Amino acid sequence: MNSGLDYLGEFLQVFPGMDAGKINRLVIYLQLVLKKNQQTNLTAITNWEEAVIKHLYDSLMVVRWPFWPTASKILDLGTGAGFPGIPLAILCPQQQYCLVEANKKKAEFLSFIKNELRLENISVVNDRAENIARQQKYREQYEIVTARAVANTAVLLELAIPLCQKDGYFIAYKGGNYQNELALAQNAIEILDAPLVKEIPYELPNDFGRRCLLIFQKTKTTPDKYPRRPGIPEKRPL
Ligand code: SAH
Repeated sequence: MNSGLDYLGEFLQVFPGMDAGKINRLVIYLQLVLKKNQQTNLTAITNWEEAVIKHLYDSLMVVRWPFWPTASKILDLGTGAGFPGIPLAILCPQQQYCLVEANKKKAEFLSFIKNELRLENISVVNDRAENIARQQKYREQYEIVTARAVANTAVLLELAIPLCQKDGYFIAYKGGNYQNELALAQNAIEILDAPLVKEIPYELPNDFGRRCLLIFQKTKTTPDKYPRRPGIPEKRPL
């Protein structure tokens, strides 16, 4: 594995607020993910260039959305090995990030990263979104909720919207072919009063593919019955 600094220098310095110290931390973080990945299955990607672009670059794309820097409390749902939450927390140290991950081993890895990189702006919660969304400490507390590669859009809306503040945003990281999934989410959008307000399509560098950020805005307080019990949003999407 090479250090990847060439790729990072070239591709990651385009993000507002990036500096050499942050690039260094991003490199250390990604190296820890790939090292840990040799023991536990965290990501299918093992090639350095691919990991830099598909994980780091992709995670950071959202900071180009003008509202992003104005938010102070963000929740990343189903963070897995840390995407997009950890790269974003490294780039934006002034924002507070809550990383929610149901899987115990992955949550332990996130806590290890927090200590290793001394990331004071993140907290790790090892629980399901359906459970924390019932607790006052989390419900309707976040200006922005993000999720990448966690579930389809209809399911994600039921998990994420209860955690958003009224007028806050839910951002789904999707691949290039999201139209069908979006059509299937229309019912959830109506029930949860969370219209799609922006689509940000983009190409990853070096032909690594098309992606899109789907941005939904929560326009009303969420009825108490959502989200339904753990597992039900996925089993019977709205
Ligand atoms: N966001 C990461 C991980 C994607 S894998 C990335 O883009 O690489 C999806 C992760 O979501 C898994 O680690 C899984 O444990 C977690 N997850 C799925 N459903 C969840 C739920 N209801 N609450 C919390 N975490 C969940």
